[in-house]
Amino acid sequence: MDTTTRLYYDDSYLTTFTAQVIASSEYNGRPAVALDRSAFYPAGGGQPADQGWIEAASAPDRRWPVVDVQSDNGVVWHILSASEPLPALGTTVTGQINWARRFDHMQQHCGQHILTAAFIATCQAATVSFHLSERSVTIDLDVTNLNEDQVQAAEAWANQAVWANLPIYARFVSPTELTQIPLRKPPTVSDSVRVVSIGNIDHSACGGTHPARTGEVGAIVVTGWSRHRGMTRVEFVCGGRVITALHERDRAIRSAASALSVGWAELPAAVSRLQETLQGLQRELTQTRRELDALRAAQWYAQTPPVNGRRVVTATLPDADLERLRTIAGFIAELPGGIAIVAGGTERAQVVVACASDTAVDAREILAVGMKVLGGRGGGHARMAQGGGGQMSLLATAIAAMMERAAL
Ligand SMILES: [Zn+2]
Repeated sequence: MDTTTRLYYDDSYLTTFTAQVIASSEYNGRPAVALDRSAFYPAGGGQPADQGWIEAASAPDRRWPVVDVQSDNGVVWHILSASEPLPALGTTVTGQINWARRFDHMQQHCGQHILTAAFIATCQAATVSFHLSERSVTIDLDVTNLNEDQVQAAEAWANQAVWANLPIYARFVSPTELTQIPLRKPPTVSDSVRVVSIGNIDHSACGGTHPARTGEVGAIVVTGWSRHRGMTRVEFVCGGRVITALHERDRAIRSAASALSVGWAELPAAVSRLQETLQGLQRELTQTRRELDALRAAQWYAQTPPVNGRRVVTATLPDADLERLRTIAGFIAELPGGIAIVAGGTERAQVVVACASDTAVDAREILAVGMKVLGGRGGGHARMAQGGGGQMSLLATAIAAMMERAAL
């Protein structure tokens, strides 16, 4: 089969073209056609595939959306979404690429060339890999750490290169010519290599699509960086994505500022004040709850008639966590003859048993009776034991059994 002439090599602004179908079948199980020439960029080099559509020149009302493009052994396959009959072998078709998507990719991809050059120039950090998706653009740098000053310096350097509006020049060069060009990385192929030069700041072997001048990248903004597999992953946006990212953040910030009735610039101080208030309230709540629990424990104790010098107080508090159950049980066991059997939990039963030291009763023994009914497990010491598990529906039976044991 013939190979495909890649029209985007010579003109990355070409959006419409005519071509002939050289294969019409499927690619990896999806309906696809191969063309003798194409402006569609196939996925590769960290840049996603173009999308668009093709139509038969003889029947322009017939249109096949191109959802993906793949390159295989020099042939560019256009994966079509339509299940209707594909354009037949030899058909002349017109192709149209989605320019908004392509230009976004050109801005991000070219921005990557520039930012990569910037990190080399400002802190000798080399780019190991690049990834571009609908949502994010990242490069991985071969350094374990980057500080804010280094990132800012690289970003400033990159934007100076953008605003200098440097020419971008792509051409195929022979192995001999190649030795004269200071390539950023040695090429992976040995024959003719496509070299992309950005002014005099970056020369790299690249098959991607680039604008004519760096000014079209618009702006480059690093939005974050973090350690990733022993390297540093830098996330950034270029061109139109800078505007999208700014609007997204602006919406979030305005919504938060409006909720706190402050201007956006006062947001950090307002959040800080809110956190202080919240911490104060949490401390107050904990203290108030503790005082309330002490009063409740005393009240329950007073309402429980003593039997053989013991008062077996039971309570079920579905909302209480284990710590609170222990606190309440502890208050009861501080009172003369007090034995507490307090339970909580919503899906899984939790039980705390506490015994005053004058009762001469082992809390673990009472708990064991309850755990036997519930089918749960627990532990502790003679004055306080806790356990959990089993079905909530058995909790009342378990408490009754523990009360009986506690009264013995
Ligand atoms: Zn490139």
